[in-house]
Amino acid sequence: MNVNESRMKYISTRGNSPAKTFTEILLGGLAPDGGLYLPESYPQFSATDLAAMRAMSYPELAFTVLSRFATDIPASDLRAIVNKTYTAAVYGNGRGDSDFSQITPLRTLDSGLHILELSNGPTLAFKDMAMQLLGNLFEYALSKANAELNILGATSGDTGSAAEYAMRGKRGIRVFMLSPNGKMSSFQRAQMYSLQDPNIFNIAIDGMFDDAQDMVKAVSNDHAFKEKYRIGTVNSINWARVSAQIVYYFKGYFAATQSNDEQVAFSVPSGNFGNICAGHIARMMGLPIGQLILATNENDVLDEFFRTGVYRPRDTQHTYETSSPSMDISKASNFERFMFDLVGRDAKKLCELWRKMETDGAFDIKGTPYREALPSFGFVSGKSVHADRLKTIRALWKEYGVMVDTHTADGIKVGLEQRRPGLPLICLETALPAKFEETIREALGCEPERPAAFVGIEKLPQRVQVMATDVEKLKAYIAANV
Ligand SMILES: *Cc1c(COP(=O)(O)O)cnc(C)c1O
Repeated sequence: MNVNESRMKYISTRGNSPAKTFTEILLGGLAPDGGLYLPESYPQFSATDLAAMRAMSYPELAFTVLSRFATDIPASDLRAIVNKTYTAAVYGNGRGDSDFSQITPLRTLDSGLHILELSNGPTLAFKDMAMQLLGNLFEYALSKANAELNILGATSGDTGSAAEYAMRGKRGIRVFMLSPNGKMSSFQRAQMYSLQDPNIFNIAIDGMFDDAQDMVKAVSNDHAFKEKYRIGTVNSINWARVSAQIVYYFKGYFAATQSNDEQVAFSVPSGNFGNICAGHIARMMGLPIGQLILATNENDVLDEFFRTGVYRPRDTQHTYETSSPSMDISKASNFERFMFDLVGRDAKKLCELWRKMETDGAFDIKGTPYREALPSFGFVSGKSVHADRLKTIRALWKEYGVMVDTHTADGIKVGLEQRRPGLPLICLETALPAKFEETIREALGCEPERPAAFVGIEKLPQRVQVMATDVEKLKAYIAANV
């Protein structure tokens, strides 16, 4: 390891916060200046490194990648945390014919067409890949500091349940999770609201996901409250989550290729830009990714940006409820991380663009050097709507006997459309179809297979507090329950 990397520091995209270490930002959310943390430089994997990594098991790979970021956790501790997290027992809830020992098995449909299974964790969605690690990292860091943490988050479905299943029963941690009232599938609701652990608090907000996310941001920006009540976050802006997601890009790459001079394309169903941001960083670290294919649903803010250079987030009224609900997002929080790299890590320039977006509702990089630089980052994009989703689910079922969920279907549709000929296409599976029964029934006229642990989950008693979109009410509720 390079001596300069022995202490990785993290800087804010807004350029006005002191640099911190991995564990210093682990329990926090936004940087004090409102920006997002990124490593001050990306660790590099050389051809020799990649050759050594090719044969590694998932936990070995996770350690190799994460040890470059979590430089202030002793190696033996990090290894123990990673080994405890990435086991076939934790990631063994998916389809019966999957090879759970791989943690993220690659399912090959056709030559050059693969699905990377990321949804075999406890909540059947890819969020478990990072969140289970986060739960163990939090427990480790809190016990070392003899401290407590109250996690405040917003979810459009999968983040919330993944966080709750990662944190339930953990000492010194409470979870306050906001979700849009009535906007999630009955399975998603049951998964979250049926948890009876006393350290888990479900709050259903009368609004959309973006309203819930704004409430979380408002509380996080109240520094006095945040400090007094030891508020932390597990939303996808959390750096440790992004870093954990980098690992499976390496795993998928090695599984789909024979040698490290091959390139691949990843297709990524995107909402908050967390998943594909990890792919971007894996590529910046030296992984031979030829294309990062970003797929949106009807909420196509990100597709618009990558096609036109215009970034124009929509308000709640223009954020549509779709049959891939975990992507019903019109203000992608992690996008700022990519933009920071795109503008050459010029925090002043980034702040300028963000100010423009706040005053004019949009910014446009047309005619700037950034527009010219954009293709060199490997991104292409496309959009998939309800009819496309149904068509893709039917086609996969008919041709390969594989049932995919609605989000994964969006990724596959756009991936097949946008892939460069000759590149193996790795489609990231972000959830299992069991979570979205209604749309599967509409597409195929049959029920998706449901893993045994989830049979009858909707009939369990539920624990949830309904609340208006009122930040003061939220603060009072937290204060009353800690
Ligand atoms: C969270 C989620 C997405 C979107 O991922 P981002 O990291 O927010 O871009 C896509 N599909 C499913 C099933 C998800 O849970």
